[in-house]
Amino acid sequence: MKLSDLGEFGLINRIRKLSRTKNSPALVGIGDDAAAMKLSASHVMLVTTDLLLENVHFDLSYTDYYSLGWKSAAVNLSDIAAMGGSPRSCLTALGIPQGISADQVFEFYRGFNYLLRTQKTTLIGGDTCSSAGGLFISVTAIGEAKQSQIITRAGARPGDRIFITGTLGDSAAGLELLQLRNADCGLRNTKTKRRNIKPEIARLVEKHLRPVPRVDWGAKLAQSHCASAMIDVSDGLSSDLFHICEQSRVGADIFVDRIPVSPALEKMSSKLSKTPLHYALAGGEDYELLFTVPPSRLERLHSLNLPLTEIGTITARRTPRLVGSDGSSRRLLPAGYDHFRKDAIRPGKR
Ligand code: ADP
Ligand code: MG
Repeated sequence: MKLSDLGEFGLINRIRKLSRTKNSPALVGIGDDAAAMKLSASHVMLVTTDLLLENVHFDLSYTDYYSLGWKSAAVNLSDIAAMGGSPRSCLTALGIPQGISADQVFEFYRGFNYLLRTQKTTLIGGDTCSSAGGLFISVTAIGEAKQSQIITRAGARPGDRIFITGTLGDSAAGLELLQLRNADCGLRNTKTKRRNIKPEIARLVEKHLRPVPRVDWGAKLAQSHCASAMIDVSDGLSSDLFHICEQSRVGADIFVDRIPVSPALEKMSSKLSKTPLHYALAGGEDYELLFTVPPSRLERLHSLNLPLTEIGTITARRTPRLVGSDGSSRRLLPAGYDHFRKDAIRPGKR
């Protein structure tokens, strides 16, 4: 069987089935943002790992090493946030190709450790090798949560409302601008010479290169017991919503007009090849939190005063749909990034 037929998530499902055992120590195993294991009578340890590969996840011609370190930390902490947990420590494993200098590695760790410090998290170990291919970065994050507060992808029920933090699509648009290296955008000389660029372009590029994991918001949602299911948006709204629907055995109606996009994305869409909605649905790497809330907990949710938008409702009909302002609807297919299928927006080199 070809991997392109199975797709990334089909492959993970098969790995999950092949790896089933009766004595797994995990309360939450393969299939969520992080695994959860009992730490004490009341607390669990959360563990997650993510790979960042040169020319797959990033391109060194437009990514500076500080941002690369920042992002490598951020994408991992985002998975801890998506469980409602607090990150505590990280490990990094690097495969470093010839041509990368020690100063560049130090700059990577300056960015990495900066992001960790903002989240009261510490680097505790890792591994270092030379690489015969590109730069290889593997990060493992370890966090903690009260067992009664963890939020999995599996708890959404029909009637629950669907919320998203922040805005969607900025990161994918920022990536496209970097790839275009459009002189009009001030991005021809990237990395160190990003002066005099328009603020809206700076915002989109920054959201791509230096995402901020929503750790505080995830923890507030967990402590208040508002959310029934949660995921971070790493692959695009359509794909990540699909994961919640699949794990919770439900469907969803998403109202197109409610999907929040930033003024910067609205403004820049004339220079980009697709509509803001496309970037919001299929783009990915926004690292916002997508979560569901039962109607009885809406008042409590609003009292938290988080920057949220209600974008839809969980349904018993198991197909996720996109509903227009005129009431028309169409099936919402997972259009986000898949490492083995070939029809999604691809980071790295074109
Ligand atoms: P995320 O986008 O939140 O990082 P992924 O889509 O990478 O999540 O992974 C989804 C789930 O599949 C996670 O529970 C992850 O630990 C698990 N997973 C991914 N790849 C593998 C693998 N090669 N072996 C075992 N589990 C995996
Ligand atoms: Mg995730």
